[in-house]
Amino acid sequence: MPVPEEGAARGLIIVYTGDGKGKTTAAFGLALRALGRGRRVKVIQFLKGRPSGEVLAAQRWLPLLSVEQAGGESLVDPRALSPEDRQRAAAGWSSACAAVSSGQWDVVVLDELNVAVNFGLIPLAEVLEMVRRKPSAVDLVLTGRGAPPELIQLADLVTEMREVKHPFRKGVPARTGIDL
Ligand code: ATP
Ligand code: MG
Repeated sequence: MPVPEEGAARGLIIVYTGDGKGKTTAAFGLALRALGRGRRVKVIQFLKGRPSGEVLAAQRWLPLLSVEQAGGESLVDPRALSPEDRQRAAAGWSSACAAVSSGQWDVVVLDELNVAVNFGLIPLAEVLEMVRRKPSAVDLVLTGRGAPPELIQLADLVTEMREVKHPFRKGVPARTGIDL
């Protein structure tokens, strides 16, 4: 088996999944780390349209971190998908494919992609095809609960966040600056 040269940049397929908290924040943590090393990072968030703290921080403090939101104002209801939901997801997906193949980005984060696939907004076959064909140098980070087994199989690094405790269970609502 060939041994990669030292320093040879082979990008990884990284998946953050599971039902516990920390997937999106882990992806942004990794984005921050990459940015600090001069890498060019693109984040596309599926299903989300409202800027959360990390998006606001990027807008205000991190002009080199490109964040695109491919969702609407309201939450997507998987039992009642609207034409707008489909259109936004499709637009996010074409933007994701373009970002991965463009050569413009070293790291591409597709936040909540797994959820968009599970909602039937993006075909799994297309995701697997894109992941298989990604340029070797690109690090690709895919997040969201319920990662499909086929994706887990393709990935190099998979972390499953498992809920041990979450304040939500005690009725504590989402907190600005912690959850959004
Ligand atoms: P974070 O964005 O904080 O890293 P996440 O990406 O792992 O969380 P998601 O599945 O994307 O979590 O859920 C989005 C929102 O739901 C976040 O506000 C998060 O705090 C909250 N959340 C995450 N895990 C749980 C849980 N087990 N129970 C209730 N709410 C949760
Ligand atoms: Mg998330």
